[in-house]
Amino acid sequence: MKKGDSANGRCQCGALQFSVRFPTKWMAHCHCTMCRRAHGAAFVTWVGVEDASFELADPDGLLRWYASSPGAERGFCSRCGSMLFFRSQRWPGEIHVVRANFDSALDREPQAHVFYDTRVSWFEVNDALPKRPPPAS
Ligand SMILES: [Zn+2]
Ligand SMILES: [Zn+2]
Repeated sequence: MKKGDSANGRCQCGALQFSVRFPTKWMAHCHCTMCRRAHGAAFVTWVGVEDASFELADPDGLLRWYASSPGAERGFCSRCGSMLFFRSQRWPGEIHVVRANFDSALDREPQAHVFYDTRVSWFEVNDALPKRPPPAS
């Protein structure tokens, strides 16, 4: 892939690497309780990517999927524990990738806050992005 057409990312230990070809579909901060617990964070920033634009390199077979809710799974590295991916029957043909695990700029910046009604009380959001109760679809 040409520089500028794609971005690469990885887990903390580096055993799992991935690349995403642009364009991505969307980027949003998710404040849902499951993202917050799974990642140990106030919110998680996700990038939506078409399956066909996503490539995974997992030579040691470390990727595991946790069924976090009916029809939805969260992918993580079984060596270092990095939470990397989300996929759901609700968004067929699409994988959600954690923004923080990319090494470089993407083709867009965050566009919205979703599940904003379940946000934590101990972090104040001070941007002008749309703040939605349900997820972007
Ligand atoms: Zn790892
Ligand atoms: Zn979420």
